[in-house]
Parts: sequence; structure tokens; C-alpha cells
Amino acid sequence: MVGGGTAGSVVASRLSEVPEWNVLLIEAGDNPSLMSEIPAMAVGLQKSDMDWKFMTEPQKGSCQGLRDQRCNWPRGRALGGTSTINGMLYIRGTKHDFDEWAAAGNDGWSYDEVLEYFKKSEDFRPRANEKDLQFFYHGSGGPLTVQRMESLDLAWTLLGAAKEAGYRELDDINGPSQLGFAHMDATIINGTRCNTAKAFLGPVKNRKNLHVIKNSTVTRIIIDPIGKEAKTVEFRSRDDKLQQVRIKKEVILSAGTVSSPQLLMLSGIGPEAHLKEFGIKVIKDLKVGENLQDHFLFLGSLCSIRSSEKLQSNPLSSLDWSYEYLTRRTGALTTFYGTSVSGFIKTKFALDDRPDIQIFFFGILANDTNGSAVFGKAFGLTDETILSLQEMSKEHDVVFMVPVLTRPSSRGKILLRSANPSDYPKIYAGYLTSTKDVDTMLEGIYATVGIMETDVMRRRDTRRRKLFVNVCEGLDFDTRSYWECMMRNIGASSFHAVGTCKMGPSSDPEAVVDPKLKVHGVKGIRVADASIMPQIIVTPTYATTIMIGEKAADIIKMDWHNNDGLH
Ligand SMILES: Cc1cc2nc3c(=O)[nH]c(=O)nc-3n(C[C@H](O)[C@H](O)[C@H](O)COP(=O)(O)OP(=O)(O)OC[C@H]3O[C@@H](n4cnc5c(N)ncnc54)[C@H](O)[C@@H]3O)c2cc1C
Repeated sequence: MVGGGTAGSVVASRLSEVPEWNVLLIEAGDNPSLMSEIPAMAVGLQKSDMDWKFMTEPQKGSCQGLRDQRCNWPRGRALGGTSTINGMLYIRGTKHDFDEWAAAGNDGWSYDEVLEYFKKSEDFRPRANEKDLQFFYHGSGGPLTVQRMESLDLAWTLLGAAKEAGYRELDDINGPSQLGFAHMDATIINGTRCNTAKAFLGPVKNRKNLHVIKNSTVTRIIIDPIGKEAKTVEFRSRDDKLQQVRIKKEVILSAGTVSSPQLLMLSGIGPEAHLKEFGIKVIKDLKVGENLQDHFLFLGSLCSIRSSEKLQSNPLSSLDWSYEYLTRRTGALTTFYGTSVSGFIKTKFALDDRPDIQIFFFGILANDTNGSAVFGKAFGLTDETILSLQEMSKEHDVVFMVPVLTRPSSRGKILLRSANPSDYPKIYAGYLTSTKDVDTMLEGIYATVGIMETDVMRRRDTRRRKLFVNVCEGLDFDTRSYWECMMRNIGASSFHAVGTCKMGPSSDPEAVVDPKLKVHGVKGIRVADASIMPQIIVTPTYATTIMIGEKAADIIKMDWHNNDGLH
């Protein structure tokens, strides 16, 4: 197995349930840091040693006002992968998303068929007042603890404002519909992050047939060019030696949306002309790295708001939070300020029953200059933009109301930078290349303004604010040209990229893996991670990636049981 990340940890754990199989998991990173345990510290993990720190290539029309004109693309580099640095929000795709995958020829991936895999992972812990949640949608006793994130008072204010603005409140974001606003579920256990390595690998670490090599980076898969069968995995070990390991059954690639396509291309599987540019011998010409889809978000819609009496940024409060956290595992350090509530809405451009905008909230405490800087750096804001945020948050809290394009039309791609595995691939995110995306985002912005202008918000002295972005300064606030300028300058990634090893039947010219996740035309390689999603789901991608890991393991078990592993 390559990559012990979100999906990889699930697959390795489940495959090693078969005592006769030997599972070797090679992970580039180390154990997750202690800091990653504390939910409130999540944003600060970006740009740390646990982050690959990928960045997009500069492209006209998006990410222009960010540092170096690039969008940040953090990805976890540790056991547990991105589940060790992400926001932990556990939101499944909608029924329509999976039914669409199945309708495209991906047998076995309809909602009714994947729901059991979501439930299989889950140990859902309802609070006393959530006993009525529909257990048709939830599992219990699985390795992954899912529970409602603690909502601080800002989250309750925002939920009230969203309701006043006319949106529905949902009891359960993972219930029958995602259209509306709700308190979020997250993978948290006893106040700490429940990443997938903790959930799936920790409890089985003494299995004799599960071997984990950390701090070692796979450089390519060596494939027999005649039989087109994967034979060997090559990796650079922690002592910087190139090593090889023979494959007895098959190799599962779970290196994520950026690295799985890179590794396939380095191994000779990818667009023929592109591989030839770098002198890589072509084993199979497939559209690896294409079909890149991400949820693009907008950071320019914000307001100041009267601070909560309970939550203030000063040394005494920090002591209180730490004391509460250490003694009870509750309070501000177990959650995010505002983000524990979110919602999905439909604009006039929505194509079907699915929401085309998600609204996230990020709160910055008054006077928290460090918090503003950490937040700004995570999204690549420039120093001058961060400074303007710090200025406006001197006396009041600041709330970013962040619309996210959940059904983007724009597509990007991932290309090799060179044939050297240590060179990061080139990421062309392609944000806002479709004007429909600009129009939809504009509707999302208006929706956030509607929420800001409610009585609930007014009662907390809300004032709309303008972030300083030099190139948009000459434009009138609140006009279409102002918003479009801001979108193209400080729009950024939600970090939900998928699709670069697209799943689809052999009749699909863009497909890289088949519905059993085997690479088309090559024996002995499957891909199991976020990169296989044929079409991005409308919700964030974490829960669905875990489901992909669960389902992949079951498919592999069934295939080998039926003696069909390599065919
Ligand atoms: C900052 C951030 C916040 C997010 N927040 C949320 C959220 O709150 N909710 C949500 O739904 N989604 C969220 N997401 C998205 C979600 O977390 C990801 O879609 C998902 O975790 C991806 O899982 P994966 O298994 O595809 O890849 P990963 O979890 O990234 O796993 C890939 C693994 O492979 C390893 N690897 C890569 N290359 C090699 C190599 N050559 N050799 C060996 N190992 C290798 C990596 O180190 C990593 O461990 C967030 C993402 C980010 C980055």
C-alpha cells in the first residue's frame, strides 16, 4: 500500500483483517504531532512539517492577489494523511452525487450501495438531545468516532441569522437532505482529533500481518511492459536509500489527489505525449491528472461583530480554555469559532435538487493578531491584506462568511514538473475558467450579505467590512466588478481536490480506474483515495474518502475470494 492517509489507513486496516494476507504500508510522513490532537489548532498545522505544502501554478484569472499569485494546497504528510490536519467536519455526499456516479457506469457506487460503508466506519455518538436523529443514516460501534462539534455562541448567532434569512435548519447534516444550515458533525473523540490512523490503524497495530514503514517515499511502481503487470514498488527510505519491494498480490495507491496521479505518471501510466516529454516509457496511455475538480471559496465577504463576553482573546481566557480542555476535554479548544455551523443553499443557477453553494463561517477574535495571521497565511493572503484584517479586528470580532462553489464547472489538471519524484507536480487548478462559476459565486456572496443583514446580526452590532486588496481598491464596493475582482484575487481552495484518477467504465475515455478501482489496462494496481471521484460531490470530501477506503477494501477482499484479483 502506498500512503497511509485518510483512505490508506482504512484500506490497510481492513485488508489486514485477512490473517493470510501480508499488508505493507509505506507512508512518506511520520506519526501525527501532539498539536494535531487539539481541534482548535487545526489551521496552524498548515505549513508545518505535517503538510506537503503544495501550491498551484500561477494562472490568469484566479489566486492573483495571493502570495506569489498561487493558491495554497495543503495536504497531510503523516500517518492519517490529510485527516491529521483537516477541519474534521464529517459531511457525506448527497444521494444524488452517488446516484450520478452509478449512472455514469460505476456499478456498485449508488447511494443505496455506499450508505452501508459510511455506516460501517462510524461510531456515532449522539448527544442527549439528538436521540431522535435517524439511525437509518448512522452507524455505531465502528472505529471512527463521529459526534457533533461543540458550538460556541457565535455559531448559535449565525444559525439564528441563517434561519431569519429564510434557510431551513437541519437536525442532521448527514440525514436525508443537506439543503439548509446545521451544527456540524466531526471526527472527534474525547475532545481530540480522531484521524483515520488513530481510528483504523491504532487499534490493530499489533497485527502480525500489518507492516508500516514511515518516513519513506514511494518513487514509482515498476511495471512489466510486456505483461503490463505491476511487479515492484520502489521507495526512498528514511535513511535516503532507494529500496525495492516485490509485490505478491497487488499495489494499492492511496497517495491522494496530487501524489497518486504523479506516481502513476512516473510509473509510465498517463497521457502518452506528456510522459514522452520527460523520457518516461509509456506503459498505458490514460488521462491521469486530468478531470481535476475542487471547491473554490471566496474570502471577501466579511463583517465585524460585537465580541462575546465569554470568549475573548487575552492571556487569562487562554488559561481558562486550556484548563477546561485539560480537565474536561470540552470548550473552545475542541472546536472552531463559528465553523461548527455551516449550510448548503441553492442559487438560481442550480441545475437540480443539489445545493450549488455551501456557506462556511470563520470567526476571528478581537485583538487576536496571531489568529488573523495564521488564518491569513493558511489561505495565502499577502501581508498587506492580513494587516487590514488585523486592523479591523482590533476592537471587534470579525466573521468571514465564505461561499463555496459546490458544483464547479471549471476543471484543472495535474502535470509532472519533471521525471524526478522529488519534484512536486504542477497543479493547474483552473478556478473560474467558467463564467457560470463567477455568476454562481456572485449569488453566494449575495446570500452571505442577506445573512449579515438580519436582525439577529444587527443585535450584535454587525458592520460589513472590506478587506484590503490593492488591485480592487479603485472599484466601487458591492458592484459586480468589485466582487469579480475580489474573487479572482482572493478566492482560494477549500482543499477538496478530487478526480485526477477518475473512476469510470472502459467506455469512458477519461477514466483511469474501473469501478473496482483497478487501473484500466494494467494488472496489479488499484487506486483508493479522493482522486477516484469521477465527479466532485457537493459536500466536503473527507467522509466520502473514508467511505471509498471501506468500499475499496471490500471490493479487494471479494475479488481475491473469487480468484479475480489480478484480472
Ligand atoms: C486543510 C484541510 C482541511 C480540510 N478540511 C476538511 C473537512 O473539515 N471536512 C471535509 O470533508 N474535508 C476536508 N478536507 C478534505 C479532506 O480532508 C480530503 O479530501 C481527504 O482527507 C483526502 O484523503 P486522501 O486519502 O485522498 O489523501 P490523504 O489523506 O492526503 O492521504 C495521502 C497519503 O499518502 C501519503 N503519500 C503521498 N505521496 C506519497 C509517496 N510518494 N509515498 C508514500 N506516501 C505518500 C501522504 O503523506 C498521505 O499520508 C480538508 C483538506 C485540507 C487539506
